[in-house]
Amino acid sequence: MTTTAEMTIFEELESNVRGYCRSWPTLFDTAQGSWIRDDSGRDFLDFFAGAGSLNYGHNNPVLKQALIDYIARDGITHGLDMSTVAKQKLLETIDSVLLNPRGLDYKVQFPGPTGANAVEAALKLARKVTGRTTILNFTNAFHGMTLGALSVTGNAAKRAGAGVPLTYVNPMPYDGYLDGDELAWMEKALDDSSSGIEKPAAVIVETVQGEGGVNVARAEFLKRLSELCAARGILLIVDDVQMGCGRTGPFFSFEIAGITPDIVTLSKSISGYGMPLALVLMRRELDQWAPGEHNGTFRGNNPAFVTATATLENFWADGRLAESTAAKGARIHRSFSDLSDTYEGVSTRGRGLVHGLVFDEPSEAGKVSRIAFEQGLLVETSGAEDEVVKLLPPLTITDDELDHGLSILGAAVDKARGGN
Ligand code: PMP
Repeated sequence: MTTTAEMTIFEELESNVRGYCRSWPTLFDTAQGSWIRDDSGRDFLDFFAGAGSLNYGHNNPVLKQALIDYIARDGITHGLDMSTVAKQKLLETIDSVLLNPRGLDYKVQFPGPTGANAVEAALKLARKVTGRTTILNFTNAFHGMTLGALSVTGNAAKRAGAGVPLTYVNPMPYDGYLDGDELAWMEKALDDSSSGIEKPAAVIVETVQGEGGVNVARAEFLKRLSELCAARGILLIVDDVQMGCGRTGPFFSFEIAGITPDIVTLSKSISGYGMPLALVLMRRELDQWAPGEHNGTFRGNNPAFVTATATLENFWADGRLAESTAAKGARIHRSFSDLSDTYEGVSTRGRGLVHGLVFDEPSEAGKVSRIAFEQGLLVETSGAEDEVVKLLPPLTITDDELDHGLSILGAAVDKARGGN
């Protein structure tokens, strides 16, 4: 690994705000597939995949070729929100590969290229269309770090960074939060004019809370939430920034519940190549934006349009990727169940290729992640107290790579518990 002297420029010049480089203190240089290599030539298996932005692995060769071809012919790189050939192809492919086969009548908005920007756009649109101000969010939610997105995020430390009151939201208990009927409170409060809860513009929900600790909402919960919103004219926003693009199996994570959200946010793996891109999908009638009402200089990342198109064409024209994701998820589940059977105070939860190993003693998760790094595996923690080791491997990972990483993790748990 890299020496401390080589790392000083980051300490001297780069802001203290940097984060992941503290968990993984080496100098990364190249990457391919499920592997990332540092400047000393050491390979690490990547079970974090750019926080879910690299569902097809690092520098996927098919996507790389599409990008190289586009750059080589001087295809437009920066396009504001002008109509371009690359955007035309992407829109046509979204229509033919994603929307049409699922009977979804959405319009597509290109906001600024981050998940937080897509969330901001979704919240603004919901407020504009309904004329209402409040948004209902969920305990342990994470939606991004800009003010609107933070207002619907649960974590107190992250909220504190806003420096201003974060208002016009009402948090509701997420599935599993109370060990009971979590939606009963929302339902009762919405129908009781004395509950103190104003009729909201929208509810924003993640189908699996990634940052919040791999909390999985059951299909029944999502279905009831959708019905509850529809019956009251409240818009349902599914934030699929982390769980969309096949992370849980199907392209849209809400497909397992058979629901059609009013608004969907996508980012992270939508470009397929780790390049910044975000989308907001909205039911056709909700597209009440005035031209330029939500804009941004970097809405036209055309190389990202090209890789996004190639991703949809190559990975989503049939159901094979969703099937292999389910099978690989089952493999992780078996391995994590063995660990939770073997060790006291360890449990597991997840869906598809997002899985959490949950430690009753929160500090153990960080310990396991540190030992795993020493053994050549990148894996992060999440949850309110960072008590969950969260697995987000590329969907294209091979079974052998998956088993290799799982064996490192198993050994790391053993070592964290005092083994050798
Ligand atoms: N929504 C969800 C569900 C997320 O997981 C994230 C990022 N972790 C965001 C929004 C914010 O995305 P970004 O970091 O690109 O702003």
